[in-house]
Amino acid sequence: MAEILVESHNLVKIYKAADLEVVALQGLDLRVPTGEMLALVGPSGAGKSTLLNILGGLDEPSAGRCEVAGVDLTRLTAKERLLYRRRIVGHVWQQTSRNLLSDLTLLDNVMVPMVLSGYPANKRRRHATELLELVGLGPRLHHKPERLSGGEQQRGALAVALANDPPLLLADEPTGELDSVTAQDVLNLLRRLNHELGLTTIVVTHDHMVAASMDRSVAIRDGRTSTEVLHAEEAEETVIIDSVGRLQIPKQLLESLDFQGRARVHFADDHLELWPAGGNANLNGNARNDGRGA
Ligand code: ADP
Repeated sequence: MAEILVESHNLVKIYKAADLEVVALQGLDLRVPTGEMLALVGPSGAGKSTLLNILGGLDEPSAGRCEVAGVDLTRLTAKERLLYRRRIVGHVWQQTSRNLLSDLTLLDNVMVPMVLSGYPANKRRRHATELLELVGLGPRLHHKPERLSGGEQQRGALAVALANDPPLLLADEPTGELDSVTAQDVLNLLRRLNHELGLTTIVVTHDHMVAASMDRSVAIRDGRTSTEVLHAEEAEETVIIDSVGRLQIPKQLLESLDFQGRARVHFADDHLELWPAGGNANLNGNARNDGRGA
């Protein structure tokens, strides 16, 4: 079985602003094997960016467990957090302006994180050049971002994110500002980096095309993981059961079956049946109504 690179268990994040508390994550469980390409999907406000910020070492969990590459993110000193951000994770943002410094050439942009992390001075230029060639920007080494197209800027952003060879890449809507053809190019590049570098990739997205190009999509709702789809195996959607036995039923199903906040449960030998607790169980005509009171 593949090694687990990211593991969160019962992860909680509470934001406090004045006398208001917002529970952004409320007991989230997630395991990401090394080498997986994962999409985090779900409605706005569900907690996706919060999770990405915690995994990126930009924000601290309030409670629960969260480990990336063996680093416990709940117990880092400020110095350890900085080292974590420089060596373990690379970040790509939707806004290209947030990824690249406008006054520097691409080559210098890629070398900045290397300088900050103490990458050997005599190897920086060569490694930065190799990374830019890997993302297809060999002919653009000395260009400043303003001379690059949107797609080229996101390729450059990937090279910057990978400057210190992190095992984990985090990307927040990395193709959000690109047209669909350019977006597909960037997705193909992510897949190639995944193959060639064994890079584990977590992408937050609202875009179905982006999610479908990953190995797995995990939906987050109300600060918890709810359902997942394995794209590679074209499996059906799976409902996630968290470590304390909670499951979230997809909204569509919930609405179509009119559970009204309660379900009657029938425990069979090898499966469970959930019936709306109120009215007649009519599961699209497929269900048996066998007098068990559902
Ligand atoms: P998503 O990325 O899925 O849209 P977010 O992680 O941005 O969701 O937000 C989850 C919840 O946490 C939302 O209710 C949001 O308003 C709140 N939130 C996010 N960041 C902050 C913050 N810095 N301060 C206060 N509340 C926040």
